[in-house]
Amino acid sequence: MRIDVVTIFPEYLEPLNVSLVGKARARGRLDVRVHDLRGWAHDRHHTVDDTPYGGGPGMVMKPEPWGEALDAVLSDPPREGEGAAEPVVIVPTPSGRPFTQELAVELAAAPWLVFTPARYEGIDGRVMEEYGARLDLRELSIGDYVLAGGEAPVLVMVEAIARLLPGVLGNADSHRDDSFAPGAMAGLLEGPVYTKPPEWRGREVPEVLISGHHGRIARWRRDEALRRTALNRPDLLARCAPEALDREDRAT
Ligand code: SAM
Repeated sequence: MRIDVVTIFPEYLEPLNVSLVGKARARGRLDVRVHDLRGWAHDRHHTVDDTPYGGGPGMVMKPEPWGEALDAVLSDPPREGEGAAEPVVIVPTPSGRPFTQELAVELAAAPWLVFTPARYEGIDGRVMEEYGARLDLRELSIGDYVLAGGEAPVLVMVEAIARLLPGVLGNADSHRDDSFAPGAMAGLLEGPVYTKPPEWRGREVPEVLISGHHGRIARWRRDEALRRTALNRPDLLARCAPEALDREDRAT
């Protein structure tokens, strides 16, 4: 997978060199390219923002540098088989659709993602109109709060996507039991997890987990997932398809 990020703070993306994403890059699973937007701002101060039409506080990112930057980045597609890969352009914004695990799974199958993290009050709306008219462009929010810039959302989304790429996680099965995973977990939250020692500060690991009884362990995990979801995210339980729950689930 190729990932391009255009930003005025390339150094903010340094964490993409470490841990899981860094390893995925080192192993050749991910080709990450970070571009400085100011390289496409041609005045003496490399200005990328201006006052908003219609008045109001804050500044808006100018369309010209973004247009030039995106034209340049998009003119160099990765190869996919015989042809060029199609990009998915991802515009982080609190006013976008929610970025979910389901979307992470979908985007992990794409060959090329281009992220446009903004600052100030965001990017001139014509940029999204221009590229949205001819490309797969998604305006995505990582949550109902407002950050100072889109770089942290890019780190969040890239990590969520990268860990789903084949060969990136040590154990390929580990994300199948994660919170929100479709299939066996039916989109529920994961319950508590434990490791050695069996007793710590007088607190014991639930007996069932050391019983070696796979059926009972699976049932216990499912019950805990249901309990935690009902407590912390009743909205997820309400959205759960009835056929995804068995008779014992309903009793829990
Ligand atoms: N005025 C904008 C609004 O209220 O929707 C907020 C702009 S915010 C200060 C600047 C930038 O940070 C956004 O353009 C976006 O790139 C990023 N950002 C902030 N919060 C975000 C969120 N929850 N999800 C994704 N991106 C976010």
